[in-house]
Amino acid sequence: MQVYVDKPKCTGCDHCKDVCPVAVFEMIPITGDVNRDTAPEEMHWKGVNDPVVHEKFANAQDGHTHYTQKSVAVNGSACILCQACLIECEGECITIIDDNAVKYQSIYK
Ligand code: SF4
Ligand code: SF4
Repeated sequence: MQVYVDKPKCTGCDHCKDVCPVAVFEMIPITGDVNRDTAPEEMHWKGVNDPVVHEKFANAQDGHTHYTQKSVAVNGSACILCQACLIECEGECITIIDDNAVKYQSIYK
C-alpha cells in the first residue's frame, strides 16, 4: 500500500494519526523535514497552505492543533486499508493506492 498526504491541504489536525491502528502517520512541525516521505512532488510542502482548506479550518476549535505541523505518511506499507483516516481527514488530503493500483481518496463529512 502507498499512502500520501497532500501537504498544502493538510491542516495538521492529528486526526489521521489518532485513528490509524498501525501508525502510518507521523506529525512533523512545519519547520521540520516535512517532505521526507515518498509523496509525489505536487504534494510536497513548499510553505503555502491551500487557501480553501485554510479558510475552513484555521480557526477551528476542536481540541486539536492546526497549522503548526503536517502529517507525513512514513509507514504506508503497514496500511491495512481500514479507511478510518480517509473518513477523518478534514483536509481531504490523503491518497491511498493499493497493490492493484486502485486509488482511495479521503472525503470529510
Ligand atoms: S486506511 Fe491505512 S493509513 Fe488510513 S487509518 Fe487505516 S491503516 Fe491507517
Ligand atoms: S487528518 Fe488530514 S488534515 Fe488532519 S493531519 Fe491528517 S492528513 Fe492532515
